[in-house]
Amino acid sequence: MLSYRHGFHAGNFADVHKHALLACVLAALTRKDKPLAVVDTHAGAGLYDLHDPLALKTAEYRDGVMRVWSAPNPPEALSPYLEMIRALNAADGTLTLYPGSPTVSRMLTRDQDRLILNELHPADHGVLRANFSGDPRVAVHQRDARELPKALLPPVIRRGLVLVDPPYERDREYRETLDLILEAHRRWPTAVVMVWYPILSAGRHRGLVQGLARGGVKDLLVSELCIAPPQTPMGLNGSGMAILNTPWQLDRTLADVQAWLYACLDPQGQGSSTLEWRVPPQGD
Ligand code: SAM
Repeated sequence: MLSYRHGFHAGNFADVHKHALLACVLAALTRKDKPLAVVDTHAGAGLYDLHDPLALKTAEYRDGVMRVWSAPNPPEALSPYLEMIRALNAADGTLTLYPGSPTVSRMLTRDQDRLILNELHPADHGVLRANFSGDPRVAVHQRDARELPKALLPPVIRRGLVLVDPPYERDREYRETLDLILEAHRRWPTAVVMVWYPILSAGRHRGLVQGLARGGVKDLLVSELCIAPPQTPMGLNGSGMAILNTPWQLDRTLADVQAWLYACLDPQGQGSSTLEWRVPPQGD
């Protein structure tokens, strides 16, 4: 049964971390003219109204995007992400709309690029389809993400990115996510793969990261941004993103971006921010 709805969490600190990194990877990949395919395995609804009852119920965006979108002195590399949020909202500075990963990908790619978006939940799939209808660059699917590597990879365009962002509602999703990523990587070895994971006190994300590091990948960069100490029992302590095939030298850019984000998102310094190669690229 699907109970997770991303609308409750849209624009929270984890979304900001995830989407800021996604924006940086897209900026690196669109530097070359060659077309790009972006595959979003767990796409959600695509765009969120922060004044919707779902978002207002938790108002998590107040400790997320609200803290960063007008904070002073952001690094240059964060401009595409921040300008995208400004472009979606009224010029008077009221924050109403927040982009889900499909909108980030749509706004930060070009005419020659293609998006393959997948969402299983019937309600969010319907909204996603409506949000992207009529866009010839976009294909929307409603499959169980576990089927995607076999069904859709590699896409016709062989340069690209896979974003894997499951809800992790059940313990076995960590293992299923690992299997999905390794299968996607096997079928499309040149793709950049970004996998988001929650950092909770139970520490289940460690097995996922370890499984990736031992999965025969050529490189693995891991970014973790925590706003609470690791043993805090309730809630989401941190946001993690593991990246396979990180574009060349992007780690330096991500380090600057993450340091600035962390200062905005955890002003009391209760948590931590780390960016490390778990499998260093060969030649480094
Ligand atoms: N990637 C989105 C973003 O950044 O805006 C958020 C995705 S949300 C964390 C996870 C999504 O996965 C939910 O919308 C949920 O309905 C969907 N989902 C859950 N199980 C799924 C499955 N087996 N296959 C595909 N989608 C699934």
